[in-house]
Amino acid sequence: MQPLIISACLLGVNCKYNASNNKLDDITIQKLQQKYNLIPICPEIMGGMPTPRNPVEIKNGKIIDQKNNDYTQNFQKGAQESLKIAQLFHAQKALLKESSPSCGSHTIYDGSFTHKKIPGMGITAEKLSHNKIQTYSEENVKILL
Ligand code: SF4
Repeated sequence: MQPLIISACLLGVNCKYNASNNKLDDITIQKLQQKYNLIPICPEIMGGMPTPRNPVEIKNGKIIDQKNNDYTQNFQKGAQESLKIAQLFHAQKALLKESSPSCGSHTIYDGSFTHKKIPGMGITAEKLSHNKIQTYSEENVKILL
C-alpha cells in the first residue's frame, strides 16, 4: 500500500491546541486505511509545542499568539521533522487539516485572530509541497478515496 502522511488530529488524536481533535468520520477513515499505509504526524508537537497550547496564527511570515509570543522556530522544526518522516516512508501524498498554521493546504487564518481566513498554506504543508509531496485536506479528501 502506498504511504499517506496524515494530520494526527484527523485520526482522532487530541493534539489540537485546545487538546481536542478533528476526527474524520469512521467510514472515511476505514476507506483510507484500506487504500493507504497511514503515517500520522503532528508538526506542532514534533516542533516541541505543548498540548494544550495558545492558539497561533501566521502574521508577516511569523507564527505568533495573541500576546505576540513568537513560535516560528518551533513550527519550522515541526515542518522539518514532518518532511523527514515523509521522506523516510517515500510518501508522495499528505492529507492535512485545513486552515491550521502548520497543516493548512489552501487557507490559513489571517493573523488578526478574528476567525478570518485567507488563501495560503501552513508552514508544514508548504514545506511538503515544496518537496514534491502533494497536499490534500479534509475538504477534498474524496479525491483520495
Ligand atoms: S499541527 Fe496539524 S496535526 Fe497537529 S493538531 Fe494542528 S492541524 Fe492537527
